[in-house]
Amino acid sequence: MSKKVRVRFAPSPTGGLHLGGVRTVLYNYLFARANGGDFVLRIEDTDQTRFVPGAEEYIMDCLKWCGLNPDESPVVGGPYAPYRQSERKAMYREYAMQLVGQGNAYLAFDTTEELEEMRRELKVDEHSSVQYDHRTRKRMRNSLTLSADEVNDLVNAGTPYVIRIKVPENQTIVFTDMIRGNITFDSNLVDDKVLLKADGMPTYHLAVVVDDYLMKITHAFRGEEWLPSAPVHLLLWEYLGWIADMPQWAHLPLILKPDGNGKLSKRDGDRLGFPVFAMNWHDPNKNETTGGFREMGFMPQAFVNMLALLGWNDGSGQEIFSMDELISRFQISRIHKGGAKFDFEKAKWFNNQYIQQTADETLVALVRPYFLEKGHNPSDAMLLKVIALIKDRCTLLPDFWAQGSFFFEAPETDPTVVKDAKWNENKQMFFETWLTKLNEHADWTDIALEQSATDNLAAFGLKKGDIMLPLRIMLVGGKFGPGVFHIAELIGKEETMNRIKKVIG
Ligand code: GLU
Repeated sequence: MSKKVRVRFAPSPTGGLHLGGVRTVLYNYLFARANGGDFVLRIEDTDQTRFVPGAEEYIMDCLKWCGLNPDESPVVGGPYAPYRQSERKAMYREYAMQLVGQGNAYLAFDTTEELEEMRRELKVDEHSSVQYDHRTRKRMRNSLTLSADEVNDLVNAGTPYVIRIKVPENQTIVFTDMIRGNITFDSNLVDDKVLLKADGMPTYHLAVVVDDYLMKITHAFRGEEWLPSAPVHLLLWEYLGWIADMPQWAHLPLILKPDGNGKLSKRDGDRLGFPVFAMNWHDPNKNETTGGFREMGFMPQAFVNMLALLGWNDGSGQEIFSMDELISRFQISRIHKGGAKFDFEKAKWFNNQYIQQTADETLVALVRPYFLEKGHNPSDAMLLKVIALIKDRCTLLPDFWAQGSFFFEAPETDPTVVKDAKWNENKQMFFETWLTKLNEHADWTDIALEQSATDNLAAFGLKKGDIMLPLRIMLVGGKFGPGVFHIAELIGKEETMNRIKKVIG
């Protein structure tokens, strides 16, 4: 019987959730759903120095916003709890000690100063990086170079030490990545990573392997930036005797900056004016807020759909997928190997598509906050009419206010903008006459209003084209918006007449 599929998203709660992180969640989620598996959220918080208050709750809120809820997590619990590594601290030491006992790991007593001195001495030029590895470990203070008695004395005296993996020399480490195929590493280039820190906390490397094993993870999706850590993890799976249970790995391609090369960073977003985090992130340490897709006015479905396509497609050219379609079409074999360039215009295109395909009734609740924020609380019926008129001009949710504010507030129209070089006595007289007609006009519908305007034009030698733009600017305050008679119908008689009067005097 094949094993039940179990995948995990394992973020470190250190800050905002980058869109690459959300894409990792998404691919995990799609794969789990498609295979009747479980999706686990595990918080990797063993690096206490990087702990940021609120980051964990923020990550969970992002997942909730995206509709990518885990089956097991620190909040919902599950059969492999706890799901926060800091709460699993006691479990890791035993495995580190097992490795020491087997000769696959060792105790290292080097102080920060000693480590720095070694790096300084061995550095050949400013670009070379000196690792703690098979070459350098021999000259350091560790249980490989000290006698058993010396080690015991140091330990008994309470001397701080870390446990490092002993990476073998001259070995080729190979594993098969689901996206990249066979990947080989030269063990001589891999350093003896710390597994257990002086404070007894495991490092990411030990904790990720132990927990993937104990939590019975079958497939592990993570960003390509973790590829260099893979050989250490592989050795740990082997040394701990668990290699048969090692998950299948998929290292996801990077999301690249739109211009140039390299991974898309928060700085690129700031520089080019778009968010890279799923939701606004407030860093309590720096007291700094970084913008998110949600607050910019993205619909979560559009955001998720856009992310699905950043590194994957189903080969058909289709770009808009419902979640159910994504679940049924998603295939690891169709994830690209190369990085995917982020394109903010394309991201907006997705949102526009989603707004257009969302029922107006659903949009009412989504756009109401933007009207409330400006001090307006229109009825559902009014908002529905506005939405129907301006929807096709809206790409982000705040556009509904930008495109529709004039339905609720008279614009600050500068009369000289209307009374420009093309303005003349005839137009002035037309509007004055039409105003008196409008006062008695009973059928306040766009069709009747248009008819009324047209009926009065001929007397002044004017055509419809002569008055449409001036009328639009009077009602809207600019050269945009839906049909001008629709606008007049919705804002009503009094408001329409006031806005005309304000300009023609
Ligand atoms: N804790 C790692 C991170 O912050 C997880 C990497 C992995 O999935 O193995 O991304």
